[in-house]
Amino acid sequence: MKLTFWGTRGSIAVPGPDTLRHGGNTTCLCLEILGQRPVVLDAGTGIRRLGLQMVEAPGPLDICLLLTHLHWDHLLGFLFFEPAYRAHASIAVGGWPRGMEGLRNIFDARRGDGNFPVTFGDLPARIQADEGLRPPRFRLGPVQVITMGLNHPQGGIGFRFEQEGHALVFLTDNELHGPGPHSPDDYARFCQGADVLIHDAQYLPEEMDQRRGWGHSDWASVVDLAQRAGVGQLVLTHHDPGRTDGQVDEIVALARDKAGPGLPVQAAREGDSLEVGG
Ligand SMILES: [Zn+2]
Ligand SMILES: [Zn+2]
Repeated sequence: MKLTFWGTRGSIAVPGPDTLRHGGNTTCLCLEILGQRPVVLDAGTGIRRLGLQMVEAPGPLDICLLLTHLHWDHLLGFLFFEPAYRAHASIAVGGWPRGMEGLRNIFDARRGDGNFPVTFGDLPARIQADEGLRPPRFRLGPVQVITMGLNHPQGGIGFRFEQEGHALVFLTDNELHGPGPHSPDDYARFCQGADVLIHDAQYLPEEMDQRRGWGHSDWASVVDLAQRAGVGQLVLTHHDPGRTDGQVDEIVALARDKAGPGLPVQAAREGDSLEVGG
């Protein structure tokens, strides 16, 4: 499995000189599995550039889109996802069960609400909910996918991708100690032994008192989780829109200090890729 980050920012896109290295686009990742159609995770603003690359590549435009939840920062890029405007493209939507409804809602509803010049029904691509891509588990060819609910306002799901004894976990928009149905113990079990854990680390520990219930975690709680679950590598993501590249680097330095030499830590950066297993 090869995973590439196309958007790593939380809440809202923040282009500009302070976000050049870690990226200003909101959440979008692409998972490549040998012999399978590409798997796009979330449709934040980062999906626009991914879509442009996809339509340039030879071969069929057969795409799987898995959504974690319906907040704008995970959906709005779909308005400018080029494959959606190609008649020969096929996009299977899965993950969060209300994903299709969420995608439809960002376009103009035939009432002429003025939100966007195109209606969802006008899109030339074949875009359909795929019942085979639903929680709590499903397969993507050789990869087993297991989902888990998020502690996040209005809910959401995270994904664990497993192949031949290797695992990659993606948990964004998740408040580990926050209000919600799941405990840190639950998440430690879900992440157990993963090669790579990618987790929301939007806040500093000292910011949490002001942001309790907003549905995001602080970096220290995420390091605790990674250590308890014995993961091989930790990637921090959903960077706060107010955080400069330098401030994200500071978080990584603090997290590395806490994690020690046994747990490599990095911050997700637009354009970076990582490989897990075969
Ligand atoms: Zn978000
Ligand atoms: Zn959210």
